[in-house]
Amino acid sequence: MKRLLLLLALLLLVVTGCGQQSVSTNQSPPEGTGGLQVHFIDVGQADAILVQSDGRNMLVDAGNNGDADLVVDYLKKQGIDKLDVIIGTHPHEDHIGGLDAVIKNFPIGQVYLPKVNHTSKTYKDVLVALKKKQIKATPARGGQNFALGQAQVEIMAPNADKYEELNDYSVVCKITYGQTSFLLTGDAGVRSEEEMLQMGYNLKADVLKVAHHGSHSATGKAFLQAVAPKIAVISVGQPNDYGHPHRETLQKLAARGIKVYQTAQVGTIKMISDGKQIEVKTTR
Ligand SMILES: [Zn+2]
Repeated sequence: MKRLLLLLALLLLVVTGCGQQSVSTNQSPPEGTGGLQVHFIDVGQADAILVQSDGRNMLVDAGNNGDADLVVDYLKKQGIDKLDVIIGTHPHEDHIGGLDAVIKNFPIGQVYLPKVNHTSKTYKDVLVALKKKQIKATPARGGQNFALGQAQVEIMAPNADKYEELNDYSVVCKITYGQTSFLLTGDAGVRSEEEMLQMGYNLKADVLKVAHHGSHSATGKAFLQAVAPKIAVISVGQPNDYGHPHRETLQKLAARGIKVYQTAQVGTIKMISDGKQIEVKTTR
């Protein structure tokens, strides 16, 4: 009995200790040991985003086929030995191109993909890599959520079964850590944005990964107003065939006084949150 009481007291101490830790001070914890880190890896005209919290790792997209080595090397350099979660936002090559290599190179936990039939070789490579490791992807859908260490991840799209545009199948997720939040939108277009607004999700976020490399096919006025970010990230290569980011998008962001970082200009962008503040580090 005495032993049980002692154990209970110890447990209580541990629990309250954890609680104090999460109500952190203004100081940033040392890198990699706490807090939330979001890396927008410079993969040119493509997306690859690493999210780390309390030793848990999530990768959202993995660049083009040609970026496979770059992404795998980047993850290894961060000392990552497991990816707890992978999200492949949608089957376009500039998002899932490097995913098969990532799946081959790391132990993988859960994989989220939109439920869509797509027959490109690149997408098949991903499905084959998953099958070889006997991993069954979870079909992503708005309303799902899970924890990544002390961070919370909410899936906000897709919200319909069928879309004309492959981009609209994009898995959109919001990551919340303490009072800070990040919204990662893949290439979701205006239709998906309207659905997210209709669903009544809390889209508000400090950082917006602007959809579709800054194309005018996304970042509608109402959506931007709901997200109301302080910082925007555009993952883009320069030059590119599409004229991304489009001037309209940049003007909309500028009109709201949002600080914009483009990977084409500043390279890989690393953001560190202590739950209250977000520190931004760029590589050039
Ligand atoms: Zn794209």
